[in-house]
Amino acid sequence: MHDEDRPTGTHSPVAAGAAAVAAPTGATAVTGIAAATGRAAATGRAAAIGAADLHGVPAAEATTSDFALLADMFAQGPVAILTGAGVSTDSGIPDYRGAGTPPRTPMRIDQFVSDEAYRRRFWAGARVGATRMHQVEPNAGHRALAELEHAGRLSGVITQNVDGLHARAGTANLAELHGNGAVIRCIEHDHRFTRAEVLGWFDMANPGFADRNADAVITPDGDADVQETAGVRVPVCPACAGMLRPNVVYFGEHVPPAVFGHAERIVTAASALIIAGSSLAVNTGVRLVHRAEQRGLPIAVINRGPTTIDRRASVRVRIDAGTSEVFTALVTQLGETIRLG
Ligand SMILES: [Zn+2]
Repeated sequence: MHDEDRPTGTHSPVAAGAAAVAAPTGATAVTGIAAATGRAAATGRAAAIGAADLHGVPAAEATTSDFALLADMFAQGPVAILTGAGVSTDSGIPDYRGAGTPPRTPMRIDQFVSDEAYRRRFWAGARVGATRMHQVEPNAGHRALAELEHAGRLSGVITQNVDGLHARAGTANLAELHGNGAVIRCIEHDHRFTRAEVLGWFDMANPGFADRNADAVITPDGDADVQETAGVRVPVCPACAGMLRPNVVYFGEHVPPAVFGHAERIVTAASALIIAGSSLAVNTGVRLVHRAEQRGLPIAVINRGPTTIDRRASVRVRIDAGTSEVFTALVTQLGETIRLG
């Protein structure tokens, strides 16, 4: 089994995987504002106090000290950022690993490749869902990270998302661990196309289909649940007539070594690592945390809800809040530091 990697985010039929990685029961001990000062992090105070008492901690007070520690991490040099689905929720893309989300069956690439009916359902759903998903835009968090990079504060951004929003926001040094759903490639020769191009071919091959099915139920991953797919003609590679697939690392597949190498270089060039909007349920993310730890880098975690690394000694800052608000505040804070310094 090689199930270590599961993409998150839109257009990822896999985004699911949620069933296996749902937040553990009783994990509420680290929700709320997990006031993590220094190494005590979530292990000490939050765990010891428990969820009920945390509700009594004034949010502003706890946030201020954590936020100061977070800003301090930039004093030693550029910081590496690792993001997950939580950074895209403010763009309207649901986080499958968040509390209360229904379990979904992850798409298996072997099923996609071997079953034409499955591919018909996939492309029909992608086409109908695209009508809604084209409205998705980068949010304040994506833009803040692009700004921080532009100001020389980041070594780069590593993301588990396949929604392409970091690139659209202007992040230049970007490692997309699970690929990008906007890129479609043929399996045999790696001819590449945009999703928009391929959906255009879908429309030519299936005139009127998108309109006839416009009222199909949109699934949380941004595709649609189209019922009538028997007559659907699946688009093929115009260069070689081969099978087309999204350039996404599906459940059961590995992150390409070159992409992981790029992510490692971003960590290696940094003086600290910030995990944002990820519960780190995916193995690749944890491997990058290990790389950072081997280099002695301090780690900050900004995430709503518990993560798999909350109790590690390397986690110096733990902020239980939305990533957009934290990164936006960070841009302001670091901007003031520059002006005053
Ligand atoms: Zn081809």
